Amino acid sequence: MEPVLSHDNSSGSHGSNSNDGHDIIGWFEDVTEKAGSVQTQILSQILKQNHGVEYLDKWLGRFNILDMDACALESLFTSVVPLASHEDFEPFIQRIADGDTTPLLTRQPITTLSLSSGTTEGKQKLVPFTRHSAQTTLQVFTLSAAYRSRVYPIREGGRILEFIYSSNQFQTKGGLRVGTATTHYYASQEFKIKQEKTKSFTCSPDEVISGGDYRQATYCHLLLGLYFSDQVEFITSAFVFSIVQAFRSFEELWRDICNDIKEGSLNSRINVPKMRKAVLNLISPNSSLALRVGAACLELEEVNWSGLIPKLWPNVKYVYSIMTGSMQPYLRKLRHYADELPLVTADYGSTESWIGVNADPSLPPENVTYAVVPTFSYFEFIPLHRQKQGCTSFADDFMEDLPIPLSQVKAGQEYEIVLTTFTGLYRCRLGDVVEVGGFHRGTPKLNFICRRKLILTINIDKNTEKDLQRVVERGSELLNKEEAEVVDFTSYADVSKPPGHYVIYWEIKGKVDDELLHKCCTQMDVSFVDHGYVVSRKTHSIGPLELRLVKPGTFKRILDHFVASGAALGQFKTPRCTSNPGLLTILSASTIRTFRSTAYA
Ligand code: AMP
Repeated sequence: MEPVLSHDNSSGSHGSNSNDGHDIIGWFEDVTEKAGSVQTQILSQILKQNHGVEYLDKWLGRFNILDMDACALESLFTSVVPLASHEDFEPFIQRIADGDTTPLLTRQPITTLSLSSGTTEGKQKLVPFTRHSAQTTLQVFTLSAAYRSRVYPIREGGRILEFIYSSNQFQTKGGLRVGTATTHYYASQEFKIKQEKTKSFTCSPDEVISGGDYRQATYCHLLLGLYFSDQVEFITSAFVFSIVQAFRSFEELWRDICNDIKEGSLNSRINVPKMRKAVLNLISPNSSLALRVGAACLELEEVNWSGLIPKLWPNVKYVYSIMTGSMQPYLRKLRHYADELPLVTADYGSTESWIGVNADPSLPPENVTYAVVPTFSYFEFIPLHRQKQGCTSFADDFMEDLPIPLSQVKAGQEYEIVLTTFTGLYRCRLGDVVEVGGFHRGTPKLNFICRRKLILTINIDKNTEKDLQRVVERGSELLNKEEAEVVDFTSYADVSKPPGHYVIYWEIKGKVDDELLHKCCTQMDVSFVDHGYVVSRKTHSIGPLELRLVKPGTFKRILDHFVASGAALGQFKTPRCTSNPGLLTILSASTIRTFRSTAYA
């Protein structure tokens, strides 16, 4: 790589105010200043490194791309190589997984594959993972840490309470390692570099992170987080779901945890031998801490655990995790636990590639835009237009134009992202809709809007995850006066009997009477603003919305269901709409009350 296009990872910093932070910010300012030409160079590097691979050969094989200048190569590539979706790469990735070592997608042999969370698309995808993937992970973490440390400096040598979890790894027929991208990163040299260089260590040892049982790992993360509580500088996870999930468990577990702190013991529910051994090696009896934590928990119970984080971790400066997109519904609960502590949303990426960094950590998550890092991949943007003027729904039939390069995007416009990566994906549609919120020097700052795929549709109605999220927010506002809350939700388009109708499942905490729940149901029905839905409801070609209340603990069972089929807690996103028979069985067996909307009667 040319020096300007890479940043030396060995100088990683994770929150200190060292020169390293200035270095990486300086590097970022430099590459974003000339983001357009950097992108042209990056594409040229990707294509020249991988010239002659089977996937590209049918379009580029007859050109001598090695001698071509970067600009000519960019226009050739975007005019002859077609847009693709993950399905186009699947047969190639399958051959790699089966042990085919010919250059199919990349010239460098691929030895590791990442498994996407699959909870949004209902299917886990396999994506190549290379050293470059681990390096860019370290780079994005280092860069965002440098920005954070400008606003919220932390003590060097402090600890981080990280709710992180490796997935189980397995080998393909051809002997390739498969796991989630985060699992590969935690096992990589780059993760160790991050810890050693920054002298900020996660509270939990590797044996906990990779212990393979998320409930046991959560218990140990909480125990060790409290054991080292005075040293903890910030709390983090990949997606904020994991933090909220951990503190909800803490409400039930705190007495056992206090007992373990007092005795220097480990509850018998932890039965993974290497996890037990590693935790017991770290702790010794500390009755004064146990007493302090126990007293604080009794007070917290009185206020429904409001302000749990600052009360138990007095030196924590902020909470850091992905809080936008499908994670936004958990913000309310996180604010309840975090009180006035700053919430900093973490960076934007996918198993396929990292995309953008949060360069404005002082902004609340709702207002954050992610600055595209122009060296990570070659990014293209498909302009999306709503078909009907003035329509407020997100899914109202996007019309699309031809993709444009990063240098041509416009503020205020919505796009779907297309990726060409160092790991062998060429013009691959990611399926995420973003809006350009502004620019960081020459690179766009993206506001994550939603996944493009429609989730609720019966006939002419079209609703995305974001539409559903807003509808649930509206409906649940009525619960707030009752001090009840929606723990989690999902939905289902029931077309088993005409007319079809939407079913929304809620798990709630707190006591709510039937009359209010019926109002919530009707409120949700009228909160869908998609023209197709409203018309269909008025003409009764879609039936009244149904709210089904499920038993407490149902969404934990759903999480278990996914984890049992190979998902990792660290990347888990509750599916907001499902037709998965396993999930529908859990939901229907757990339904305790049902309500029908009386709107549009
Ligand atoms: P996966 O590859 O399964 O881990 O999921 C990647 C997807 O998670 C992305 O394509 C986005 O839809 C979503 N995602 C990742 N980072 C963010 C973020 N910062 N804000 C909102 N959504 C995100």
